[in-house]
Amino acid sequence: MAGDPSFTFDTMAVHAGRDDLTALGVHALPIDLSSTNPLPDIESGGASYESMATGSHPQPGGGAVYARLWNPTVARFESGLARLEHADEAVAFSSGMAALTATILAAKADRGGNHVVAVRPLYGGTDHLLGSGLLGVDVTYCDPDEVAAAIRRHTCLVMLETPANPTLELADIAAVVDAAGEVPVLVDNTFATPVLQNPLLLGATVVLHSATKYLGGHGDVVGGVVATDTHWAAALRRVRAVTGGLLHPLAAYLLHRGLTTLPTRVRAQQDTAQKLACRLERQPGVRDVYYPGVGEHDPAGLVGRQMRGSGAMIALRLAGGYQHAMRVTDRVRLFTHAVSLGGVDSLIQHPAALTHRPVPPEARPDGDIVRLSIGLEDVDDLHADLIQALDGGEYGENSGAWW
Ligand SMILES: *Cc1c(COP(=O)(O)O)cnc(C)c1O
Repeated sequence: MAGDPSFTFDTMAVHAGRDDLTALGVHALPIDLSSTNPLPDIESGGASYESMATGSHPQPGGGAVYARLWNPTVARFESGLARLEHADEAVAFSSGMAALTATILAAKADRGGNHVVAVRPLYGGTDHLLGSGLLGVDVTYCDPDEVAAAIRRHTCLVMLETPANPTLELADIAAVVDAAGEVPVLVDNTFATPVLQNPLLLGATVVLHSATKYLGGHGDVVGGVVATDTHWAAALRRVRAVTGGLLHPLAAYLLHRGLTTLPTRVRAQQDTAQKLACRLERQPGVRDVYYPGVGEHDPAGLVGRQMRGSGAMIALRLAGGYQHAMRVTDRVRLFTHAVSLGGVDSLIQHPAALTHRPVPPEARPDGDIVRLSIGLEDVDDLHADLIQALDGGEYGENSGAWW
């Protein structure tokens, strides 16, 4: 059977979530765009509605009822991703931020508390959401080794991102889980992907992805997904059914197709990033290269133990400060100057001005840092593009630092 759990990761990536296709008589993933579904009768339709609105699955014979409650194309993607993350189930959302919002709401409801412990650094949007007051949470920001001290009686969630955005610090997931005790731990696994890291196997309760990034992988779909146990999946589906942050079936189709090439893409992109990071260490104009696989950037030795590689994201501290960052992002020709990451083409962006702009100054990345998302282009072409962009003019020590 295609979904046999004894298959290796790469085989599962191609086949997981497709168990019903043969019975349907199709080979490619079918796309169901129905917003509503014919009801067999009032009783069984009503029972199915009740089941899904409280977070469970459709009832046999009752059907999917309405697309805000259930969609088979989305459910197939969810079961595929769940297998890759060693989860019971997964729940997909319209974006990574919708997934995060639903997880925080579910944690508040489930635990009856409104305190969140957030390990920094975090993605700027995550930091912004937590600080916005919109979700009514009280947040303690801390380092990984301060988690135990930050926990209170009403703590409903500990949040962690590793590798962290944008400077690729690694945090020890098992140590944070241990420090969190009874409190559930959410790991944002967007940068690592299930190819390189499986937080649930290290004791995390919830794994979150901005599917917009590596899972989609082609820069043409926005989505989010949470992989977790049956209890949390039901809580998340309930929030999704009520608040409506749905993944569209066309997006689910693209994401599910994206899973088939995920291992190949991530490993090839990582291979290029590793080579590029080594070359950039010797590059005039680059003061520091932030990449777990070079220099002193993995002091705890988590690559190999927690992560099966260093990933395909790199951050650079430029010798010429903010002015230099402006010039480099302006002069690149092969890299695209754009936010987002994880696609087949390489991107460069300035975190302090863009992705991390809403972050309070004390936690905002420095203005001399640029972040690279390495794609599938040839390493020599990417290197040449960066050399010409870095060399294009004078750069003094931190000249014109703006931040
Ligand atoms: C992009 C991103 C998010 C937010 O996801 P969206 O799909 O943009 O809503 C969350 N976490 C990380 C690490 C990200 O890179």
